[in-house]
Amino acid sequence: MSQNPPDLRPDLARARVTESARPGQPTIGMVSLGCPKALVDSERILTRLRAEGYGISSDYAGADAVIVNTCGFLDSAKAESLDAIGEALTENGRVIVTGCLGAEPDYITGAHPKVLAVTGPHQYEQVLDAVHAAVPPDPDPFIDLLPASGVSLTPRHYSYLKISEGCNHACKFCVIPDMRGKLASRPHRAVLREAEKLVEAGVQELLVISQDTSAYGTDWKDRATKFPLLDLARDLGELGAWVRMHYVYPYPYVRELIPLMADGKVLPYLDIPFQHAHPDTLRRMARPAAASRTLDEIAAWRAICPDITLRSTFIVGYPGETEAEFQTLLDWMDEAQLDRVGCFQYENVAGARANVLPDHVPEEVKAERWARFMEKAQAISEAKLAAKLGQVMDVIVDDVDEDGVATCRTKADAPEIDGNLFIDEGAADLKPGQIVTVEVDESGEYDLWGRLV
Ligand code: SF4
Repeated sequence: MSQNPPDLRPDLARARVTESARPGQPTIGMVSLGCPKALVDSERILTRLRAEGYGISSDYAGADAVIVNTCGFLDSAKAESLDAIGEALTENGRVIVTGCLGAEPDYITGAHPKVLAVTGPHQYEQVLDAVHAAVPPDPDPFIDLLPASGVSLTPRHYSYLKISEGCNHACKFCVIPDMRGKLASRPHRAVLREAEKLVEAGVQELLVISQDTSAYGTDWKDRATKFPLLDLARDLGELGAWVRMHYVYPYPYVRELIPLMADGKVLPYLDIPFQHAHPDTLRRMARPAAASRTLDEIAAWRAICPDITLRSTFIVGYPGETEAEFQTLLDWMDEAQLDRVGCFQYENVAGARANVLPDHVPEEVKAERWARFMEKAQAISEAKLAAKLGQVMDVIVDDVDEDGVATCRTKADAPEIDGNLFIDEGAADLKPGQIVTVEVDESGEYDLWGRLV
């Protein structure tokens, strides 16, 4: 856990596309930046292109054109997106830009006038049109069959499952609702069908994502239940894969999910972006559930499911944050004892309403608060992991290196953003996606080590 992105960004899931193109096959490269939601968009675009007969290249040289799926959440992410576009132009020369930053085409073409096309987030058809114009398709019906599970940029044994798009909130530091629009939930049956196909294709872990997972289905006019996520989680829990919930906001009815975790249907893991703990800071952020008593909720969740792992992210140095407000956050952390924590230092985002708030916090104060916060979070993480020594638990294997060391994850670890459990001995024959039982015999600040039992 170091400062800000990339470590807070599961988006840095590395692209793993290994297909080789047939001779003469039109071939596209993809650079996927941004959050896991953007990664899912990239997968959808590549799935469609693959179905149309395009090959997928994992390097610039082998591609006839490159799609850069951008992120525009923070100014630093915008700069990273512009850099990635520049690199693709230098290395390949034929570049199509899509994703969140595509909502600001002038910003992109101002810096990179040679891009072939710019499309916004979720404009799948426009991206495909731009690809068709740049590199005409040449399908071979005997070869170009759509893989059953689509093209996945994440390893085959886990997959992100996007359940909705957009957000009905208006947090002042965030421009995602402007870029991605209002909440639009995918139908329950469509999500379930995609999940079933993924599990049939060998996926062992489904990572449920959206901008606001708790709000899933609340945009349906004719919804039969108050909390459609509960029905979805129940059905996903029947598929036999690990099901992990990300971006769950602490609404009171989230409590209804926890029995599914206690029963082993859904992983006992909640990724909840609390962002802060002081009610005044949360109000200035215009956060959903700003007034809720989150410590009481956390206690209630733990009473139902004592093993639950809680991950969250926070912003320090938000405009107007006083030392007393920050101290409240530190005290809250002492009580909440969250297992996994990431922390951003506040930064302005072009177009965000927080930019014009009074009393911006000086950079050195932000940095100092961030260091104090992370010191506390690290101590909590270390103590929590030390308490796992001697425990026997199931872990999922992500990778086995040439020295026979297996990198695994416990149920408490989401890929790319949390820690790992390493097995040093007797692991050479393990395969990614395998679930094995280990006894924890060593712990560190963020990682564990174990031996097969
Ligand atoms: S809940 Fe807030 S931070 Fe999250 S996407 Fe919506 S507006 Fe942005």
